[in-house]
Amino acid sequence: GPAPEGDAEARAWLKRHESRFGHFIDGAFRPSASGKTFPTFEPATGHELAMLAAGTKDDIDLAVAAARKAQGAWSKLSGHQRARHLYALARMIQRHARLIAVIETIDNGKPIRETRDIDIPLAARHFYHHAGWAQIQDTEFADYQPIGVIGQIIPWNFPFLMLAWKVAPALALGNTVVLKPAEFTSLTALLFAELAAAAGLPAGVINIVTGEGETGAALVDHLGVDKIAFTGSTEVGRIIREKTAGSGKSLTLELGGKSPFIVFDDADLDGAVEGVVDAIWFNQGQVCCAGSRILVQEGIAEKFLSRLKRRMATLRVGPPLDKCIDMGAIVAPVQLQRIEKLVAQGVAEGAELHQAPIDLPSGGCFYRPTLLTNVQPTSIVATEEIFGPVAITMTFRTPEEAIQLANHARYGLAASVWSETIGLALHVAAKLQAGVVWVNATNLFDASAGFGGKKESGFGREGGREGVYEYLKPKAWAALKPRPDV
Ligand code: NAD
Repeated sequence: GPAPEGDAEARAWLKRHESRFGHFIDGAFRPSASGKTFPTFEPATGHELAMLAAGTKDDIDLAVAAARKAQGAWSKLSGHQRARHLYALARMIQRHARLIAVIETIDNGKPIRETRDIDIPLAARHFYHHAGWAQIQDTEFADYQPIGVIGQIIPWNFPFLMLAWKVAPALALGNTVVLKPAEFTSLTALLFAELAAAAGLPAGVINIVTGEGETGAALVDHLGVDKIAFTGSTEVGRIIREKTAGSGKSLTLELGGKSPFIVFDDADLDGAVEGVVDAIWFNQGQVCCAGSRILVQEGIAEKFLSRLKRRMATLRVGPPLDKCIDMGAIVAPVQLQRIEKLVAQGVAEGAELHQAPIDLPSGGCFYRPTLLTNVQPTSIVATEEIFGPVAITMTFRTPEEAIQLANHARYGLAASVWSETIGLALHVAAKLQAGVVWVNATNLFDASAGFGGKKESGFGREGGREGVYEYLKPKAWAALKPRPDV
């Protein structure tokens, strides 16, 4: 079909950079000190998109030094002055929203409808929201100080939005940043660096070092970093927690999930079916808070699942730049293989496989929307995060049984409850071990609501007032009063 709007602009941006990108350190792009590079690919076609700089300890050293040098002046600006910078960044994102959305879609494989309508607008909203906090920092948080230099490591599933969730609060409250994007999806972070420079953000306030896990590890190990903020897998989160223990570094972790999606027999079934579409087929299911465990009350299970399978068959899977597409490509072959392997293991353990009979485009990393029924609670597909468009279903009889099943997980990120009886929904919501619970809704995000997990889903919040405190340290001031004259 015809190239979508913005595609030419995105290709021109890549061409202008000769499809080669360095790190962004102290206000300028520069190659890796080691000269090492690595390629990034387009998931929908498998074509190479660009060469990126592979960061080592030397690059992290330079970036941390730049962030340290900038932090004093940045933190001495008044909250109002910092707010102006955040407003400028937000406006810059809005002005270039189409370019960012298209590059994100090309680099990640997610549908343009999502980057255009969700990822990029929410990222802009995050900067506006935190401009508000910066504005009242001097009065509202007078007994708090910025933490200093923040090392931030983000995953590939929402590359630009995760950058916004991390960078906006850090900057708003007077910190400076060294950010390591995910190796599969660094392009919009580099575009952001370019836009930030154009918006007049002082050099060194934000630095971006690209690379794989070892680059992230060098950032975690660096003695000049005051805090690590990490979003990614529980496995890497655990390594980072061990490494930072006793180091004096602050730490927040946003990790994996296996979130329950509970449908009671009095739920609006059509609403709940659309809820599942948003819960597990949004972003190809590569969502930490995806509703991946569908728990249905026994009496309506058959009816609900047959409606759900009918709806699943209507989903359009294809090239993500096509505006009519519901599901795009999985981010990389290694992730596709992981999904395939877990599903095969689930089937070997007795699960029944349901896939929509959809033709997939050839050449790219595509996977069909999938349901697994007849799943035992101990099966690997019931306990492991699949991080793909695969939901499992199980049934329950009573609300107590639903709560028990829902909480039977090592994760505790999110949960979704569907019932027309608000008393029941709220009773269940209160008992669920999750950082976020949605009632008759799913995957709702807002900059003013703190997002984060319980249990092995991590700790710390992003957004809301809670998220502000993650980038501040309390400081108690006391002075002895002179003795009153007697
Ligand atoms: P990952 O943990 O492999 O990678 C995340 C980031 O950490 C990447 O930038 C990677 O390069 C870096 N990294 C890898 N090894 C490292 C190490 N030893 N030290 C420092 N950094 C290292 O995860 P992923 O595959 O990119 O992302 C998928 C996971 O992220 C899923 O498990 C998902 O649930 C989770 N996730 C959680 C949230 C949340 O808010 N809780 C949001 C998005 C994704």
